[in-house]
Formats: sequence, structure tokens, C-alpha cells
Amino acid sequence: MTGLSYEQMLDRLYAQIPKRSLEKERFEFPRVEAFVQGPKTYIRSFVQLTKVMRRDDPKDLLKFLTKESATSNAIEGDRLVMNGKFTEKQINDWFMRFLEEFVLCKECHKPDTHYIEHNGIRQLKCEACGAISPIRRG
Ligand SMILES: [Zn+2]
Repeated sequence: MTGLSYEQMLDRLYAQIPKRSLEKERFEFPRVEAFVQGPKTYIRSFVQLTKVMRRDDPKDLLKFLTKESATSNAIEGDRLVMNGKFTEKQINDWFMRFLEEFVLCKECHKPDTHYIEHNGIRQLKCEACGAISPIRRG
């Protein structure tokens, strides 16, 4: 992937996500790039990252990050600005936890999922294997 910018790499990954597939490979999420400037932490290409995880509406992720970091955040352009200084490792750990809890199918570990409501409880329905898994919180 040499010669590609980080943004191009994300676009390419997004384009490669099969809408429906029987492949067994585990979903590989790109490393999240973040940097601290003054009292704030900036996450690069945040909007594209939410598309890679097929969550065009990032409200759950924003809520999740607010809880984990115990600070507020805001989308600015295609970046996410978090109030406070956080390491890239912390942020990657949060993204991985979010993926495991809210995005990846518990059965086949694919990201081809969406939310359904059952008896007022939100669950994850997998489009690849059809499994329905509980979401622990949210
Ligand atoms: Zn599945």
C-alpha cells in the first residue's frame, strides 16, 4: 500500500468490505491515527473510520468515546476533537472495544451488522450469518 495517503487507504478498505460474503477472514480494522495538540486530541479521518465500520451515524461511537474518556468530543470536518490528552494506544483500545461490543458479529466476527429492537432491547443482527447477538450496553 505504498504511495497511498492514509485517507486513500481507508477509502480502499471501505471499498473492499463485501456487502455479503462467505469468507472466513477476520475483519481487520485500520489503526486509528491520533495526535495531541494543546489540551486536545485529534483523531484523523474519523468520518471515514465510521464508514469502515459501517456506522454512518456515529452517535453511538461518540457516546461510547465520551463515556470511556470522561470528556466531551466534537466532529470538526472529518476529524474528531476530544477534550483532553489521550494516547493513540488508548484511542485504538477504545475503538477495538466499540467494535467488539457494537459492531462485530459475535458468531462470525464480521462487521456486516445492523441494530434491531426486540422487546425494547437493542440487538445486533448479522447480515452475513444471520446471528442475533445482545449488545451489553447502549
Ligand atoms: Zn455473523
